[in-house]
Amino acid sequence: MMKSRSIAATLGMVVAAGLMLGGCSAPAASESGEKKLTFMFRGGEDEKKAYEKAVAQFEKDNSVDVDIIVTTADQYATKLKAAIAGKQVPDVFYIGPGDVQAYVQNGIVKDITEFVEKSDTIDLDNIWEYGIDSYRFDGKRVGEGAIYALPKDVGPFSFGYNKTMLEKAGVPLPDKDRPYTFDEFVAATKKLTADTNGDGQLDQWGTGLNVQWNLQPFVWSNGGDWLSEDRKKVTVDTPEFAEALQWFADLQNVHKVTPSVAEAQTLDTYQRWMKGEIGFFPIAPWDLSTYKKLGFEWDVIPYPAGKTGKTATWTGTLGIAVSEGTKYPAEAVKLVEYLTANKEAQQTLVDASIQIPNLKDMAETWAADTSAPPANKQEFLQIVKDYGRALPGGNTFNAEWYDELFTNIQPVLDGKQSAKDYLKEAQPRMQEFLDSANQQAGN
Ligand code: CA
Repeated sequence: MMKSRSIAATLGMVVAAGLMLGGCSAPAASESGEKKLTFMFRGGEDEKKAYEKAVAQFEKDNSVDVDIIVTTADQYATKLKAAIAGKQVPDVFYIGPGDVQAYVQNGIVKDITEFVEKSDTIDLDNIWEYGIDSYRFDGKRVGEGAIYALPKDVGPFSFGYNKTMLEKAGVPLPDKDRPYTFDEFVAATKKLTADTNGDGQLDQWGTGLNVQWNLQPFVWSNGGDWLSEDRKKVTVDTPEFAEALQWFADLQNVHKVTPSVAEAQTLDTYQRWMKGEIGFFPIAPWDLSTYKKLGFEWDVIPYPAGKTGKTATWTGTLGIAVSEGTKYPAEAVKLVEYLTANKEAQQTLVDASIQIPNLKDMAETWAADTSAPPANKQEFLQIVKDYGRALPGGNTFNAEWYDELFTNIQPVLDGKQSAKDYLKEAQPRMQEFLDSANQQAGN
């Protein structure tokens, strides 16, 4: 129901599945003899404009000619695969954390550790560890070892509320430093769900969340998780997990604080949030350019927390990698460094309101400015620094096992099957996919 397209743009989990092709680049020298790179990425109009501007500056500063290939988020995986199959791997391109293992195994991306560690144009200590670690791989485990990409961005998936609506309904504003308990959240959303014009139809709802993007915070804060620490066992069949999923489903079926299935079909919850009809809704950095235009006051808070009492959420990221076969590795890495860590380039991207700064010092300055919403930008930084986690499907060889959970989940959301029964059924199916992924990875 949410903007899954723009979420997918930041996650990059779709590219590598089934990829078994060797790659090498076919660099072209321009007629003038100038060095030439191709840079392939994806994004919407705002992003495209911002990157074109940054790349133009890079070309000017470095006497390198950069050919840009930009696709929509939906087309990117297909086009990149075709480029790899045709041995036309771009010199520089986006990858997601979930792509790292397969691309390394197939010799498509370059180990850039030495370049970036010795570089005098980039200070790795000033870039979010989460962002860099997402593209490390030691041959066994993503998150550790050599660096295969630098983060284009980190995307803390936070939570927000319509301040104007809460004030009108007489609901005390949430504390940004203390997450709601599950019960407190239900109580607040009940107060907000109302027929405000007395025509017998609801006009506003407490919340309206998509299970695929919002279940994680509730499971984690309730003490559950998807995988064992060694990433070999699927652990969704625990009481903590079942309780969180049941609670999530009950928001609609028992507490009725979300638009009904029919109401969500007329207008999805993302559109309803934008119109001011939803009290609590997820908020991520890639929404900021759109949310500038909202006709109500809003801010960011931690997700409601289950029985651990500790809020949780995930942090998305996309990376920028260099082709193993590039003719100009030094220049290609320099372009990656420029796009991920150059101060001017970062400012261009941040001014376009498409991401939070990759640079820690710049991010602190950005967050300290409370004049533009959200006032609590610090929450984004806390997620990246302290409590954001990788999406469960992002650090395994492929995400088929993870996607399987959502494939048949609808009866639970409709209140026709208990979360506990469903998870018991789903675990063996997920385990089979995970075993197969681990086998392909050689783990
Ligand atoms: Ca009404």
